[in-house]
Amino acid sequence: MDLWYSENHTENVKFSLRIKEHLFSDKSDFQRIDILKTYEYGNLMTLDGLVMVTEKDEFVYHDMIVHPSMAINPDIKNVLVIGGGDGGTVRELMKYPSIEHVDMVEIDRMVVEASRKYFPAISCELDNEKVTVLYEDGIKFVKDKEDVYDLILIDSTDPIGPGEGLFTTEFYNDCYRALKENGILVNQNETPIYDNFFEVGISSNIKLKKMFPIVKAYQASIPTYPGGYWLFNFASKKYDPINDLKADRWNSLELRTKYYNTELHKGAFALPNYVKEKFENGNV
Ligand code: SAM
Repeated sequence: MDLWYSENHTENVKFSLRIKEHLFSDKSDFQRIDILKTYEYGNLMTLDGLVMVTEKDEFVYHDMIVHPSMAINPDIKNVLVIGGGDGGTVRELMKYPSIEHVDMVEIDRMVVEASRKYFPAISCELDNEKVTVLYEDGIKFVKDKEDVYDLILIDSTDPIGPGEGLFTTEFYNDCYRALKENGILVNQNETPIYDNFFEVGISSNIKLKKMFPIVKAYQASIPTYPGGYWLFNFASKKYDPINDLKADRWNSLELRTKYYNTELHKGAFALPNYVKEKFENGNV
């Protein structure tokens, strides 16, 4: 008998993966967590039935949420990751000897524990001495922070359930205050392929533009996310993502990355017209 996992990307579009084995299911105080072994993408984690991470294509997302900022400001020392329960974002951050400390504020301990067991290659740096994992709501955590972080990465779920508040003006204001004067914020910003996701992305981009002097979207191809085409927002108090790219310095680190490189960096910020127009005009 064939077993398949399906996710509705819209009411008319379904994404399915053939399943080899059901590994884990449980419900935390925040969401349902399922882990399945797939034929094509290795282990798959879903939260409330939505794809979060797969062994096969996680490298794209985790490279692209981390490395562009690190290639722009090589002096980043203190980082806040909000969400990020699978550990992939922390893994990429730990490639930088210059980083002194990372706070990972993940609301759901069960996600981290499941990642440690079923995604060892992704969660492998969560015990690094530079990393503090805090099981708290990221929205509350940033409320009383000021001038603390060089970089904030919002590695969240979609704006549903516990993730809903991570797309609000109030939260972005709190993050702005928590950042130092050269601070950079990056958030995962959904897909422009489907209107319901695109509206979230445009709204998030507009809100960030109201407080950060530089806000640019960038892109990556992530096969298991809706539309297979994913956006991030780069919001900065000082640095321009293209003019301030320090490619030679980043390349001199000789880091091993499976997706990111400093040539791709420039292309990632070169958006198609239908995305540029919306993000520049802002009319949802
Ligand atoms: N790469 C994934 C994506 O793009 O959808 C995100 C991965 S990570 C698993 C998302 C994490 O955000 C989840 O572990 C979830 O528990 C966490 N999260 C959601 N809302 C949160 C909040 N308010 N504070 C902290 N973590 C939160």
